[in-house]
Amino acid sequence: MVLGTAYVKPEGIVVDTHVKRLAYRLGLTDQTDPVKIEKELMPIVPCKDWIFFGHALIWHGRRVCAAISPNCPGCFLNRICPQRGVAIPH
Ligand code: SF4
Repeated sequence: MVLGTAYVKPEGIVVDTHVKRLAYRLGLTDQTDPVKIEKELMPIVPCKDWIFFGHALIWHGRRVCAAISPNCPGCFLNRICPQRGVAIPH
C-alpha cells in the first residue's frame, strides 16, 4: 500500500480484510489466504490498475459492501455480482 500510494510503484495488489471479502463476494477468488488471493487477482487485473483496484475495493467495502450488512440493492455492481456469502433477506 505504501509503495503503491506514495511512490506509485505497484508491486502487487493490497489484500486487506475488505479486498479479501469483496474478492470472494464478487466471485474473483475461492481462496482465503491473502497471498493466494493476490496471486489470483494479479493476472486478471492489469498491472497499471493494481493500485487503483486495491483502493477501489477498500472504499467500496467501507461504503457499500460492508461485512455485516452489504447494501446490495444500492450497489452499482449488483447486476453482475454473484453476491457469494451474502445472506438474502426473506
Ligand atoms: S452487489 Fe452486494 S455483495 Fe456484490 S459488491 Fe455490491 S454490495 Fe457487495
